[in-house]
Amino acid sequence: LWLTTIAPLLCLLTSGLPDVRERTLIAVKPDGVQRRLVGQIIHRFEQRGFKLVGLKMVQVSEDLLSQHYRELRAKPFYPSLQHYMTSGPVVVMVWEGPNVVQTSRKMVGHTNPTEAQAGTVRGDFSVHVSRNVVHASDSLEGARREIQLWFQGKDLLNWECCNQGNMME
Ligand code: ADP
Repeated sequence: LWLTTIAPLLCLLTSGLPDVRERTLIAVKPDGVQRRLVGQIIHRFEQRGFKLVGLKMVQVSEDLLSQHYRELRAKPFYPSLQHYMTSGPVVVMVWEGPNVVQTSRKMVGHTNPTEAQAGTVRGDFSVHVSRNVVHASDSLEGARREIQLWFQGKDLLNWECCNQGNMME
């Protein structure tokens, strides 16, 4: 009965549910760190209900940056992007929760701050595309690739909540 009826039924019921283990990479860029915005950005993700599973401060090398932004290497603005992103430490984080990739992109706002809505990080804290405070992975595949690039598996911690106030489980 379990194999023929209950298990397939359970699969069917849970297949439409969002993956609570979905993860994304968020980085506070050098301008965000220098402007003391790290706490406010972390606060927004905590307040939304996402779970922090990795965090570190990094002085980015040109090599790491060119792997991170491999699709942008040929762009005319890449040299200035490289200069900006290596101008000071970044705070890089992995956040986990249902639809965290898509929701983070909404919370971060449009790439160009002049088009970013108020209420988004970029819409609230930035006026220029070349100083836009924060990075967020733009797809599930991109998130997987970026997390592997920036973090070793052992530095991402699985932890469980006390069951109260946990909005994801
Ligand atoms: P996003 O960060 O929103 O995913 P992109 O991947 O297109 O956007 O670009 C990566 C980063 O490169 C942007 O966040 C921004 O810092 C920089 N950038 C993008 N377009 C420009 C531009 N036209 N001039 C200067 N910097 C840019």
